Amino acid sequence: MVRPLKNLAEVAVIGGGLAGLSAARQAARLGKLVTLFEGSGLYGGLVATVGEVSGLPFGGEPSGQEIAIAALEECQKVGVRVIEAGVAQIGLGEQLSLTDDLGEFHQPDAVIVASGASLRRLGVPGEEEFLGRGVSRCATCDGGFYRGREVVVIGGGDSAVHEALVLARTSGQVTVVSRSPLSAQREYIDKLDARENVRFVWGSEVTAIVGENGVSGVRLRNRNDGSESELACSGVFPFIGLEPNTRFLPPTLLDADGLVRTNADFASADPRVFTVGAARANYGGHLIQAMAEGVGAAMAAARLFKPGPNEHEQGIRHAKKIVAH
Ligand SMILES: Cc1cc2nc3c(=O)[nH]c(=O)nc-3n(C[C@H](O)[C@H](O)[C@H](O)COP(=O)(O)OP(=O)(O)OC[C@H]3O[C@@H](n4cnc5c(N)ncnc54)[C@H](O)[C@@H]3O)c2cc1C
Repeated sequence: MVRPLKNLAEVAVIGGGLAGLSAARQAARLGKLVTLFEGSGLYGGLVATVGEVSGLPFGGEPSGQEIAIAALEECQKVGVRVIEAGVAQIGLGEQLSLTDDLGEFHQPDAVIVASGASLRRLGVPGEEEFLGRGVSRCATCDGGFYRGREVVVIGGGDSAVHEALVLARTSGQVTVVSRSPLSAQREYIDKLDARENVRFVWGSEVTAIVGENGVSGVRLRNRNDGSESELACSGVFPFIGLEPNTRFLPPTLLDADGLVRTNADFASADPRVFTVGAARANYGGHLIQAMAEGVGAAMAAARLFKPGPNEHEQGIRHAKKIVAH
């Protein structure tokens, strides 16, 4: 690893979702040398495929892609170095170490984990077999294939209800199958309630996705009386919660759910490793919060390495040099 300036702290940001992009930009603005790692090649994380992002504190509902591209451009303006590789492992020795998927070894002074979460799998027969042929995890991308047809959305949280709303615009009938009452925010539930082509199946779970060349239905089990039934549909959209993307972290930083425990400054059990957004325990689930946490963690990370009188200036010069390249 090349260290261009002695004592100038380097910050590695893991994840190019909105938490990571916000953290990277802020850390670079504070004069740190920032490297951002993104494993999927798609910036914006969970909202990358969301057509209309709601809950932002300004008018309009931009797409996740629009927000991510704007945030990435802002990172590039302040000299954030972007590596399109996932992070495979973090070591917490005397010097932090980071190994990426390309096998490259890095030694940052601080790490901001913003690796977010992935949609949880149902784990039922047919789910993997029909993925991309009737099973989808993106209503905005695939809703058009089910124009006028019957679809099933599985889950009752924010993402399930949000995606059911998207599907209700074009599908003939949307059936939301949920094991328990909806836990999504009121605004989404009210909008969904107002749609005439949406109905609910409560207290049931999907035990299989069935079909031959494509999906023809889902098998349901009623959790109260154990009875089984089949519901015809041509599209299935499972949104049953999230799993944190934290397998590359030492278990000492994680809670029983695999989420990183943090303090008010977003520092983990190792004070050099910060975590923001959906990978963090007690994250509230709103994009705007993920972005704010990114800024907060970058500020806390920068405080770990107070620059000497000339280093701040040197950092800016270095960032300018990177931009010029
Ligand atoms: C369907 C859906 C719709 C939603 N709609 C809204 C909405 O309208 N409004 C709202 O406020 N919230 C919405 N949310 C919630 C919002 O998406 C999340 O709160 C937010 O995306 C969390 O941001 P994050 O950056 O922490 O994580 P993520 O968005 O999960 O981003 C994490 C990034 O890290 C990358 N990554 C993972 N592991 C690694 C690794 N090892 N190395 C390198 N990179 C890695 C991933 O590829 C990803 O790009 C929605 C969520 C879903 C699922």
